[in-house]
Amino acid sequence: MKTAAILVAAGRGTRAGAGLPKQWRSLAGRTVFEHSYRAFANHPMIDTVLAVIHPDDSSYLPAQIRFVSGGETRAASVLAGLSALRGEGYSHVLIHDAARACVSAQVITAVCNALATHQGAAPAVPVTDALWRGQDGQVVAAHPRAGLFRAQTPQGFAFEAILSAHERQTDTANAALLDDVQIARSAGLEVAIVTGDEDNLKLTHPADFARAERILRENMDIRLGNGFDVHAFTEGDHVVLCGVKVAHSKALLGHSDADVGMHAITDALYGALAAGDIGQHFPPSDAKWKGAPSHIFLAHACQLVRSRGYEISNVDCTLICEAPKIGPHALAMRKTLAKIMNLEESRVSVKATTSERLGFTGREEGIAALASATVVRP
Ligand code: MG
Repeated sequence: MKTAAILVAAGRGTRAGAGLPKQWRSLAGRTVFEHSYRAFANHPMIDTVLAVIHPDDSSYLPAQIRFVSGGETRAASVLAGLSALRGEGYSHVLIHDAARACVSAQVITAVCNALATHQGAAPAVPVTDALWRGQDGQVVAAHPRAGLFRAQTPQGFAFEAILSAHERQTDTANAALLDDVQIARSAGLEVAIVTGDEDNLKLTHPADFARAERILRENMDIRLGNGFDVHAFTEGDHVVLCGVKVAHSKALLGHSDADVGMHAITDALYGALAAGDIGQHFPPSDAKWKGAPSHIFLAHACQLVRSRGYEISNVDCTLICEAPKIGPHALAMRKTLAKIMNLEESRVSVKATTSERLGFTGREEGIAALASATVVRP
């Protein structure tokens, strides 16, 4: 499954009040668009994000975000996005209104998971209020609410099927009203309903901004985890520390490659999530992890962090040994870790200390490492 996300951000958004189009307005420290963008760009099940914007708006878009210009209607904008991705090998696509800035990682995950067994899937919440028909300020009829849902985005589809549905869509009179689920259904695709989220509101009116700001600020969650690991020396000619091979008169003993620093960082990330430890996710009793390179463990922990909607803010690792000397390799270690974790180097620290010849590290019986990690759900 290779999945793209299209963020539809080409509208003019006049109902949200005066000033900039709503997707470029500021909300809890970022633009509305950037909140939506980060939700998809940081999600491990999304491989690329494409923005569809109004041709006049490119100056609002942060650099390095791929975009195409939208059309006159929402449907035309989506078709422009789908056409741009044609031939790039995506099996699935999620189409999201950028004005739904509070979309959660859980909703994106639910849509992606449903696409494993359905051609289309979209989040919705059941209608719980009574529904009335009104006329001249008076109730003239009640409308049964059973089986009614309020539709949300992202709406996800098999890529080729939704592209072809959009290309065949000819209802230009109603094009402004058509969402992708309607276009998919008119082409005969079945669309599964997945559980939406009351907080996944579409910013439409001025009051919605205040509510979205509360939701985004309430959801901010900063967590700290720590990790500690020890491996004993055995015979050999090198050690692997934080992903870097360092020549030494001994090797480290372990079930995997015995990268004590990377193990401590991995445990710190699991710890921040209260998601157990490395031995629980990769049991030493399982032969398939014998000699395994530890970047597999670290990458798994990073993916788990991101799939729960958190970003890694920083990690800090201290290696405790008399030898080998870490200083000359620290920068290479930081670069290696940053690459595996998909982080800037400035967020990855590796440093070292001795234990003044005291204890097992002082007697050069092994190497210890401790690490801390901070993760943030914005
Ligand atoms: Mg270990």
